[in-house]
Amino acid sequence: MAQSGRLDHFTGEPKVKPACVLDYNKKMGAVDRADMISFVDCQKKWYKKLFFHLLDTAVLNAYTVHRKLSEERMPYKDFRLKLVKELIQEHPLPRRSTGGRPCVNTPLRLTGRHFPSFVPPTEAQGQSTRRHCRVCLYTTRRKRERKLTRYMCSSCDTALCPAPCFEEFHTLKNY
Ligand SMILES: [Zn+2]
Ligand SMILES: [Zn+2]
Repeated sequence: MAQSGRLDHFTGEPKVKPACVLDYNKKMGAVDRADMISFVDCQKKWYKKLFFHLLDTAVLNAYTVHRKLSEERMPYKDFRLKLVKELIQEHPLPRRSTGGRPCVNTPLRLTGRHFPSFVPPTEAQGQSTRRHCRVCLYTTRRKRERKLTRYMCSSCDTALCPAPCFEEFHTLKNY
């Protein structure tokens, strides 16, 4: 442990922190990429700060790898949001039971409100822009096919045939 050069707010005594933390803070200042991380830096205790910083570093590393491996150019903020959504889907908090069985491991597409909308027009295809239906493409229940559709669920950002795929996608865990 080493003196941090600050005084404790309550006791007025010099604050001590692990030397590695002080060292880390000093060196981190030079790394501008880490600025991307700072917007979630709202914790006060040094160990919490360190934990969240390491967590954020892991997310930033994942983003860097994702950029390398994927064609998709996704802004960092969108990547974080998508990651949060996927983590919630994979590891939902066990809900307090309201009579039925607790709902564990329910993908977001099976909860909430979903309405069909038109696939947004592109310059090339205009109003008749179509995308491949996800259920037809990845179904495990019938023969897979590449089927184009004008309809999508905008909450899920997923193109779907209005029937039966729209319903199947939102009601079956394995469609
Ligand atoms: Zn379909
Ligand atoms: Zn949906």
